[in-house]
Amino acid sequence: MRYLSTRDQTKTFSLSEALEKGLAPDGGLFIPEHFFPVSEFDSQLGYAEFGAKLLCPFFEGDELQKKLSNMCKLAFNFPIKLRFRKDQSPVLELFHGPTAAFKDVGARFLAQCFDPSDRKRSVLVATSGDTGGAVASAFLSKKNIEVLILYPKGKISLRQEKQITAWGENIKAFSVNGNFDDCQKIVKDALADPEWKKEKTFISANSISIGRLLPQMIYYAKSSLEYLSQLKCAPGYIIPTGNLGNAVAALYAKRLGFPIGKIVLATNANHSIVDFLKTGVWTPNKTISTLANAMDVGNPSNIERLRSLYPNIVDLRTDVSAISVSDTEISEMIRNQYKSSTETFCPHTATALVAEKKAAGKNWIIVATAHPAKFESIVEPLIGRSIEVPETLKALLNRPSVFEEIEAYFSDFKSRLSL
Ligand SMILES: *Cc1c(COP(=O)(O)O)cnc(C)c1O
Repeated sequence: MRYLSTRDQTKTFSLSEALEKGLAPDGGLFIPEHFFPVSEFDSQLGYAEFGAKLLCPFFEGDELQKKLSNMCKLAFNFPIKLRFRKDQSPVLELFHGPTAAFKDVGARFLAQCFDPSDRKRSVLVATSGDTGGAVASAFLSKKNIEVLILYPKGKISLRQEKQITAWGENIKAFSVNGNFDDCQKIVKDALADPEWKKEKTFISANSISIGRLLPQMIYYAKSSLEYLSQLKCAPGYIIPTGNLGNAVAALYAKRLGFPIGKIVLATNANHSIVDFLKTGVWTPNKTISTLANAMDVGNPSNIERLRSLYPNIVDLRTDVSAISVSDTEISEMIRNQYKSSTETFCPHTATALVAEKKAAGKNWIIVATAHPAKFESIVEPLIGRSIEVPETLKALLNRPSVFEEIEAYFSDFKSRLSL
């Protein structure tokens, strides 16, 4: 398998090249050169085994292929559950990993893709909340790796901030005086900076990295088969959406031929993608802060992958719809779900639950992207009780936070690291 840029499609790259570069030389995002129909898959296989089988063709011709099996074992060492519920759509729980958000899947897999013995690397990551923690946890204590995390100051939950700033060792955190789009811009500038290119080997751990996107196909592929075998029809997915990485992975799995119906992109008040589906014209917007902060993205980078997968807006509308949800609706959903079934959901998952109510059609799987305990300051007042904290998070909460504050410009970030 070769990889192409979403822009200039004349050059191809190996998977390892795409992983090292992060962003294509022309500023586009890497995508697989082609998709192919999948063969028989057994949904009974465990995630590691299922994943290795699914990803194998995407690693064809790359030196990493021989390690793939082991990489999957190390990366997918926590449960991913399709939880069926009485009289309600099942929930695909992706938050049982070390930092309690679905980003553990991509981050842990990406961390397996680099050989720590061959050279020093700097992992660069902008985060709207959950990526930073997942990447820090995945790369913690790895030899020859430093992790640089940029997050928008004051715009993430305290527990999210802990998961970014409390690790020590090879993890460095930067609190940026700006929003997520500013953080993402700094990362793009850093990866493109000619001076740093000579000095540092950067790897990007944002969802622009194809190494995070590919493993996310696995849970869509596997859960679609599980659903099909239980309920005898193909599920659609309602996906809490921000930077569009998780949704593009679902669409890749669909393109491979897994039994997947419609994909609904559930966004918060950041509605750029909703407008795009309506008008066919792509217009990024300024980011708005919402209760579902990991989805506060006005200019999702994976839009390029989405548009290259669906060059024609009519085809996109056939497979995908998008629904924007307000903070009031998110709060109401969290409160009502607890009242009616004593289930608690994080604000992102609640966004998907609201979108389900508004979506045409049925047979949905709700994608649950984070544990509600990460957003206790939002969820607890709504349900009127405290939420039990997962063990891994508990340990971090007692450690001190360490970070540097920077202005929202690449030059400021650069000066901190050149000292
Ligand atoms: C990152 C994140 C999302 C959005 O995922 P994208 O791939 O950026 O669309 C949704 N929910 C949670 C909890 C997240 O951390």
